[in-house]
This record gives sequence, structure tokens and C-alpha cells, in this order.
Amino acid sequence: MSPGFSHPPIAPGATIGILGSGQLGRMLAMAAARLGLASHVYSPDRGPAQDVCAKFTQAGYDDEAALGAFADSVGVVTYEFENVPARAAAVLAAHRPVLPGPNALEITQDRLTEKQFLHSLGIPTAPFAAVEDAGGLARAVAQLGRPSILKTRRFGYDGKGQAMVREGSDLAVVHRSLGASPCILEGVVTFARECSVVAARSADGSFAAWDVCENVHEHHILSLTRAPARIAPDTAAGAVAMTRRIMDALGYVGVIAVELFVVEERDSAGALRERLVVNEIAPRVHNSGHWTIDGAVTSQFEQHVRAICGWPLGSTMRHGDVEMRNLIGADVHRWRDILGETGASLHLYGKHEARPGRKMGHVTRIVGR
Ligand code: AMP
Repeated sequence: MSPGFSHPPIAPGATIGILGSGQLGRMLAMAAARLGLASHVYSPDRGPAQDVCAKFTQAGYDDEAALGAFADSVGVVTYEFENVPARAAAVLAAHRPVLPGPNALEITQDRLTEKQFLHSLGIPTAPFAAVEDAGGLARAVAQLGRPSILKTRRFGYDGKGQAMVREGSDLAVVHRSLGASPCILEGVVTFARECSVVAARSADGSFAAWDVCENVHEHHILSLTRAPARIAPDTAAGAVAMTRRIMDALGYVGVIAVELFVVEERDSAGALRERLVVNEIAPRVHNSGHWTIDGAVTSQFEQHVRAICGWPLGSTMRHGDVEMRNLIGADVHRWRDILGETGASLHLYGKHEARPGRKMGHVTRIVGR
């Protein structure tokens, strides 16, 4: 099925389908409920989305009968994570529109095809080389030098599936540490900051981006998002324009996040210039867009629902300068103090066990107007 919007419009009272039961699915379902829509969540695992949806199916992504029944019960299918198996997406798309389209999944599930896609659009990425085996890694290291970063092509997140290739690293050991799976090697980008563009596109091509935000990671996990990012206005405009090019090329419908490195360089006249390098694309709502729930007129979750239902996009206007902090692991035990803080908006995901590294909730503060 084409990624375009070719099914009858969805009206309040309808049910949307969400693949995945994590906190992103939960916040999507909550935004849908506010607009009078019910959600049917499908996942092999129980999770935070289950508490807030009208219907939950626990079944595998290889259970074609369950996928078909799920799709038949909803007006449109969307997802909270990009690793939806291609076969599952095809089965669903035979019943109902899957938005964003399966082409977005196919391209972004694999770091190599994602980078090749970006190159086809003339969008800069880190230098990279495909690595099939230890011999291929040696050739890639000869090309890109050390240090460099080896990443599995598929299933990486929050720094998982990555290993540094340093001076003296044994290449066979590094490759084996990632399960000897197909990988890409990336040159290290010396960036001044990490930013992301969260934006939405409708089937009719209309587009709306929130202000570019700035992200700070700790132990490879997002810790803090600031909106707006402290970058030059033309850098921000360039990042948004790249995002729109990506979405137009994919015929994208829904919310996307494009993660970028901002590199500072001196030009020949000695002036400091910012250059953008795209790190990765998430074909879904994103942690760096959580600030929009309390910090903007329309949240990323509501916007995604609007886009996949064929409804007009909402305003992305900010209410002020915003900071969003993730509550990771034991951070969540501060919930009572945060509740007592004027101006702090607390979001808890209903996860029972505060394991280290686990995203338990977030808190948003408007820090300036
Ligand atoms: P990723 O899973 O690709 O988003 O990588 C996780 C984090 O690792 C990024 O947010 C960066 O902080 C860092 N990182 C990833 N790739 C590179 C690179 N090529 N150069 C420098 N830092 C990187």
C-alpha cells in the first residue's frame, strides 16, 4: 500500500491501532483519548500503554492471524518503535493503512540503508563504511581511521549495539563483541552539541516542525532536552529544511525525529560556523519531543494522531523556554518533591521496577518566557 492517505477519513469515536506497549504508545493513546479516539495496542509484551488503552492484544509479530484481526478492528495502524518486522508491516498494510508507511520502517531499521538514503538526498552524515566480517572491519578502519565507532546495522538503541575502535583495539574482538553481525563503521564526529528536529507531515504534504531542541545524553541515554537549541537561526532553519526533505522523499505521514550533530568550525575568515550532520532518523514520536506536551500548543503525540487520521496539523508554538528531564531508574523516587515544585509537570509511565537505565518518567519545566 502506498504511504499516502487513501482510506476514509477517521472521525472521533474511531479506534486507532498502536504497535508497541511502551511509554511512547502510552502517551499516544492518551493524546488520542483527548481527541475522542480509542486505542487498540498490540504487543508481544505487557507494558505502560496497556493501562490506558481500550483494547490490548498480546501476540507476537509473527502471528499473522492476530495481526489481521487487530488491523480489522482499527481505522489506521501506527507504531511506537521502528523495529516492526517488515513481514508484520506488510500483513497489516494488506488490511489497513500503516502510517508512517512501511517504506519509512524499511529504510530506518538499518543504519546502512538509512545513511545511503540520506546520501541520495545530499544530506551529510558521519563518514561510514559497511562491515560484513572481521576482514571488512580491517578495510573499513583503514579507510576511516581510529578512533571510530562500530555499530550493528539493526536493533541498536541508547548506545546498545555499539563499540569503539580505538588505537590498539583488536578488530576481531570488537566485531565479536557485537555478535559478529552485519555492521557499519562510522568516523567519530567531533560535535559541539546534539540536536533534534521533531516534525510532522500530513498526506497532503503539509508540514509543521517544533523549534529545534538540544539533547544531552548520559551513559548514551537521553537525560535532558532544551527547547530551543542554542544554535544560530540559520542552522536551525537548515535542520528543519533537511527534515522536510527527508519527509517529502518518504511521502511520510506522522511525526518523525531527526537527530543531528552540530559541528563548530572556523571558516577561512576565522568566523565560527555551525555545520549539521544527521546521526539518525526515528520514524515515530521521540523522547526529545516529550517537552511538547507541556511546552507547546500541540504535543508531538497529538500531532501524530492528527496526521495519521488525516486531520489538520496543530500549532507547534512554544509556551516559553522549556527543559525536559528524563527520570531514569532511581530518579523516579523524587516524584513527591517534583509534585511539590511550582511549574514542574510530572509524567510517570506506570512502570513498577525502577531498574538502572530504565526510563521511568520525565519532568518538564518552563524555564523562561
Ligand atoms: P546512536 O545510537 O547512533 O544514536 O548513538 C548514540 C550516541 O552515541 C549519540 O547520541 C552520540 O552521542 C554518540 N555517537 C553516535 N555516533 C557517533 C559518531 N559517529 N560520532 C560521534 N558520536 C557519536
